[in-house]
Amino acid sequence: MQKIKKLLVANRGEIALRIMRTAQEMGISTVAVYSEADRLSPHVKFADEAVCIGPPPSNQSYLLGNKIIEVCKELNVDAIHPGYGFLSENAEFAGKVSDAGLIFVGPSPKSIEVMGSKLAAKQAVAKYDIPLVPGTEEAISDITEAKERAAEIGYPILIKASAGGGGKGMRIVEDESEFEEQMNRAVSEAQSAFGDGAVFIEKFITSPRHIEIQILGDQHGNTVYLFERECSIQRRHQKVIEEAPSAVVSPKMRKAMGEAAVGVAKACNYYGAGTVEFIVDDKLNFYFLEMNTRLQVEHPVTEMITGKDLVREQILVAEGNVLSFAQEDLKIHGHAVEIRVYAEDPKNNFLPDIGKLVTYRRPQGPGIRVDDGFEEGMDIPIYYDPLIAKLITHGENRQDAIGRMIRAINDYRITGIQTTLDFCRFAMQHEAFVSGNFDTQFVENYFTPEKLEPVFSEEERELLAALAVEFFEKEENRINPTHPANSIPSTNWKNRLL
Ligand code: ADP
Repeated sequence: MQKIKKLLVANRGEIALRIMRTAQEMGISTVAVYSEADRLSPHVKFADEAVCIGPPPSNQSYLLGNKIIEVCKELNVDAIHPGYGFLSENAEFAGKVSDAGLIFVGPSPKSIEVMGSKLAAKQAVAKYDIPLVPGTEEAISDITEAKERAAEIGYPILIKASAGGGGKGMRIVEDESEFEEQMNRAVSEAQSAFGDGAVFIEKFITSPRHIEIQILGDQHGNTVYLFERECSIQRRHQKVIEEAPSAVVSPKMRKAMGEAAVGVAKACNYYGAGTVEFIVDDKLNFYFLEMNTRLQVEHPVTEMITGKDLVREQILVAEGNVLSFAQEDLKIHGHAVEIRVYAEDPKNNFLPDIGKLVTYRRPQGPGIRVDDGFEEGMDIPIYYDPLIAKLITHGENRQDAIGRMIRAINDYRITGIQTTLDFCRFAMQHEAFVSGNFDTQFVENYFTPEKLEPVFSEEERELLAALAVEFFEKEENRINPTHPANSIPSTNWKNRLL
């Protein structure tokens, strides 16, 4: 066991800040690295020490593994937390960190490598009785054989790149006549995007839900699951709203999915925090999709319902401690919902809308958590993922958490750029979301830009403002001007209304 005294966070923005907060609570000193674009970022100000590692593009800064390891040596750092994205799922980097005598706060390089390849992952879990989407377990080499297999599985099918990620490298094939053409395209795309042309086929699940299980393992063979997160509300195959628990998972299904996830973790001798992703069909059959070998963006919803700090657990495991709780100690408390506040314009296909945060005011109150990495007046840089904040609410039940989320969204003040806040309010109030009866096609099925148009027309708003002025003027006349308490200058309500 080796106690961590100084931790470098090889990341930026909200996640760097979130990790450092826990480190500080544990008495660990923190080192931030930053690019020239992030000089004034809260994560840099929060850290005990901070080092600029290069110009804004991530391949000249946050992805420079060797440079980051050098910084560790110079500053006597003993551990690196990679956050998510950047170097977090880079097996070679994890290996170099250990070779340099540092602790990598994450799993072994071997686990990262196995789970980084969708085919290697399927092969690794084969002996653990984990449900897999019907398909090939090896890369397609013979097109005639692949067509036969596709016919057995039944169309539509999905051609997937083994090295794919971030929703990229997938092609739907509706019938056999398209097979060969789509397959050739998939191979060349996979080759150019991921440097690995291996592709395989899977049954295309229509109306799927994306439900994942949080797991945590130590280096002594103990593994537990911290229940599920529902992540079906996505745009461009990327999550935008998450919640825990899922509205459709029964205790029996939760146990079956949890145990399958622990099986996946055991299949690659996993330790640390990890996420096992499943796709769930309309009959609630679940199939293993892939494992993410890092802390997940949406981890706060799990923290809210379990009361566990996942970063703290990651650090304890990395130090070599035995997990301090067992499966039976874990319980679900209430319900949590998270929305991702991105600098994107939902009215324009969710394209990034970067610029200055002219006004930036966070919502507050019981059951509300905001994980963010910006302050008012700052620019959202174009070089990175345009995530401004994660807004998480917790309530006694799903309805309370949703009600609280709507209130929190209404209290969030962001001007200067377009964000996903209005879209998330639309989703929270939509019958499909409220009833829990939705799938990954929510945006495609229900959302159009007109849904975000203001409730009142320009004319109606003018009329309402005029009525309000009349009302308040009458009210003001009722206030006795001679009473000393009423000598306080009135607020500028009239200006705000007009
Ligand atoms: P990536 O590594 O690119 O994130 P995943 O395998 O995790 O790829 O899949 C991303 C998303 O694509 C899933 O959340 C789901 O919405 C969709 N998807 C993946 N596999 C299937 C499938 N067999 N049928 C239908 N949709 C799928």
